[in-house]
Formats: sequence, C-alpha cells, structure tokens
Amino acid sequence: MWDKLWREFKALVTLRSLRTRIFIIILLVGTVPCVLMRHGILNNYEERAVENRIATVQNQLMIVGNHLLSNNYFDSMKSDEKSRAVISAELEMISDLYEGRVMVINAGLKVVTDTYSISEGKSVISEEVIRCLQGEGMSHYYDREHGYIEMTTPIAESAGEDGSSVVVGVMLTSISNDSIMSTMEALNRTAVLLENLMLMGIVALALVLSNILTRPFNRVTEAIKEVKAGYSNDPISVPDYVETGHIVDAFNQMLDRMKALDDSRQEFVANVSHELKTPMTSVKVLADSLLAQENAPAELYREFMEDIVSEIDRENRIITDLLALVKMEKKVQELNIVALSVNDLVELILKRLRPIARKKDVEVVFESMRPVVAEVDEVKLTLVMTNLVENAIKYNKEHGWVRVELDADHQFFTFTVSDSGLGIPEDSLSHIYERFYRVDKSHSKEIGGTGLGLAITRSAVLMHRGSITVKSVEGEGSSFTVKIPLTHVTADTGVRSGG
Ligand code: ADP
Repeated sequence: MWDKLWREFKALVTLRSLRTRIFIIILLVGTVPCVLMRHGILNNYEERAVENRIATVQNQLMIVGNHLLSNNYFDSMKSDEKSRAVISAELEMISDLYEGRVMVINAGLKVVTDTYSISEGKSVISEEVIRCLQGEGMSHYYDREHGYIEMTTPIAESAGEDGSSVVVGVMLTSISNDSIMSTMEALNRTAVLLENLMLMGIVALALVLSNILTRPFNRVTEAIKEVKAGYSNDPISVPDYVETGHIVDAFNQMLDRMKALDDSRQEFVANVSHELKTPMTSVKVLADSLLAQENAPAELYREFMEDIVSEIDRENRIITDLLALVKMEKKVQELNIVALSVNDLVELILKRLRPIARKKDVEVVFESMRPVVAEVDEVKLTLVMTNLVENAIKYNKEHGWVRVELDADHQFFTFTVSDSGLGIPEDSLSHIYERFYRVDKSHSKEIGGTGLGLAITRSAVLMHRGSITVKSVEGEGSSFTVKIPLTHVTADTGVRSGG
C-alpha cells in the first residue's frame, strides 16, 4: 500500500504521470496569459496616466506663462503688485493640486518664484533649464523610483512679425506621481484578487479534466487486471480513444494467442493421458484374466506374459517419444551445430534400418546427386531421417521399395524419402504433423506407431530453419521432402554461426 503510494508520488514528481502533465499544461495555459495580461494592462495604464498628467500640467503652466508675460512678471518695475499676487496664487494652486513645486526662473538662471519659498533669489544650473532657455521647447523626465515627474516649460515672448519668439524664462516643475501610484495599487489589488479567483477555478478545472482525460487508461488497466486475476476471459473493450483502442486490440490478440496455447496444452495433456492409459488397460485386462483362471497352464501364462511385455514396450516407446518431443519444443535448447557429411549420415541410418526393411521385404535405395556437407545438429537430423525412412518402411506393402534422394544447391540441401506404400488420404495430409495423429489408428498401433514421429521430425526441421513438404496418393505411395540451409543461421539474431 505504502509502496504503491510512494510509486505514484514518484511518478507525479518526475512528471512520468500523464495526469500530472495534463494538469500542468492546463494550469500553465490558464494562468500565464492572466498574469501577463495584468502586467501589460497595469504598465500601459501607468504610461498613459503619466502622459496625461504631464499634458494637463504643461497646459496649465502655459496659461500661467502667458499671464506672466502679459503682466511683465520678470520686470518688477513694470508689473504691479496685485497681478503678481494673482500669478503667485495660480502657481500655488498648481503646486497644491499636483502635490508639487513650481519654480519660475528668469533668463539669468535666477529663481524668481518658488512655491516652496526655499530657492528664491538663488541660481539654478540645470541642463534641462539651460536647454529650455536656448529654445529647445518643453521637456519632461519621469523618475519612477523616487516617485516624481519633472518638467520644464519655456516662457516665450514673440519677438517680431515673422512669428519667431524669445525665451525669457523657464518654469521648472516637479510633481508627485502618488495619485497615479495609488490608483495603480487599487487596480493591482482588484486584478490580483480576480487572478487568484481564476487560479482557483483553473486548478479545479485542471484537476477535474486531468482526471477525466486519463480515466480511459485507468479503465484499460482495470480490465486487464480483471483478466489477469482470472475473473474474466472475454476480450476487453475501451473504445474511448484511438490509443486505448490500439492497446486493447493488442491485448485481445495476446489473449487469443494465450487461449489457443492453453487449449492446445489441455488437448495435449488429454491425449497423453489417453495414450499412456491404453497399454496400462491392456496389461490390467491380461493380468486379471490370468488371475481369474485357476490352474492356468504354463503356456497360457507365457503367452499372456509376452502380450504384457509388448504392451510395456509400447508404453516405453510413447514415453521416449514424448520426452524427445518435449525436449525439441524447449525453445531455449541450443542446437549442437557441426559441419558434417550428410551422405555419410544417410548411409549410416540406412545401414541401421535395412534389417527392418528386409523383414518386410522392402528394398531401400539411396541416390546421392553430389557430396553434401552441411552445418547441422547431428542427433536431431538423425531423428528426422530415421523417422521418415522408418515410416516409409512401416507404411509400405510387402515387396515394396523406398527411395532416398540427397541433393543440394548453393544454399540448401534436400532430402527426399519416397515409398511405394499405402499413401495418405488427402484430408489427412494437413494433420499428419499433429501430435498423436494417426491416419489408421489400429493399423498404426499394430506396427508400433505412437503418432509422435512426424511432430518430432517437423520440430527438428524448423529448428534448423528448414521446411518439410509431403506429396502422397492413397494406395500408390508418399514422398516427403526436407529442405535445410547448408549454413546455420541463428533464429534470434540472424547471424551466421559456425564456418
Ligand atoms: P506414427 O508413430 O504413428 O508413425 P507419425 O507421426 O510418424 O506417427 O505419422 C503420423 C501418421 O501419418 C501415421 O500414423 C501414418 O498414418 C501416416 N504416415 C506417416 N508416414 C507415412 C508414409 N510414409 N506412408 C503412409 N502413411 C504415413
């Protein structure tokens, strides 16, 4: 339980969870534009508010400037006391209204009036003032850090009829940006509040959406768990997304394959049990009937005992074949590949089998087109050849023949076993490689067949990456052809082994 929680937590932290990724994406898409918008709007507001403030103050200063000129403010001889007082009041009013300070400076850089009454009579040497006096027009400077706006306004007198003017003085004004800042703060507070509300909404939305969007994947996991636990064997279906559809399809195909494997295993176990039981039943019947007869003659004992021995032999043969088959089907089993002369191997096998053929008066001939050397597993190839030739002898007529042919091209060698035997009915041809399949059960049993020989043969051929084919006409004979590569290629890597 803690393990699972820890694993989930780790997946969340390392962003390996799809749900976390969806959550983060929705969160970013929702919040980043909000924050950017707030900053953009507030900055823009500040810029415009400062510009407006400057324009309004400059306007009022211009008006006062004109009053100054019309009342000869700079010439104390010409101006009267009363109008000076009016102008001073106007300047006071501006400085009060905008929480600032206005200084009127004459062409000699002397402060004529200061609304703070600190610098009157003093000289001002400031670059802006000098430039303004030189006729460069108004200028302003916004110091955000210290919270003031400074501006210079020229007081210009028209000099002649050509419209030119002479700057006779400058108004140096600095006003506070406090009111702008407090409006901005109020705006910012509202925006932050709205932003936080939106953020909460977005977090909730991201949580809900990330849960909803990843739900089909959870459903896939649940469905697979059901099958894994063994509660269901049915194909699962989660068609919500194309992606989940693909996962589920692949899983269903795997399920089908596993079911097929399971069915074939069950069938195999049933067949094995049946095949092993038959000789045991015969042995029991024979033994029981001997026991039932009191004073049975010694010859009868002998005869029954011979039958019992032959049944035990049969049981043995089935077990031996089964072991060979199981060994063959173990995919991990390595082939013991050696380069050997296939001609010599065939000669050896035929030498071993000829006595059996002689018993049935079957003639065995070997035709080799060329000497063949191939990279093969000697034991398994011997099994292949022995099984095919043995079958050709077993399922033959009296005085029949078996022909073994060996040929090769530059890639493969072919080994063909033809006979003049019973042949195989067409509808049985596709079944003869199945385990325990026999065309004629009773006949096959009579001659000691277990129905496993061709299954073993086919497995061994496939392990060599070869093929086996059969042609047969019922009543005329059969011909099995095995085709195997001369050089061995490993199944997993496709890399050639050996020479
Ligand atoms: P068995 O051990 O019974 O011979 P196999 O797997 O070798 O089993 O063969 C399966 C069946 O195929 C046999 O029972 C037989 O009916 C048929 N068969 C195999 N080879 C031949 C052949 N050369 N001619 C006719 N029938 C054959």
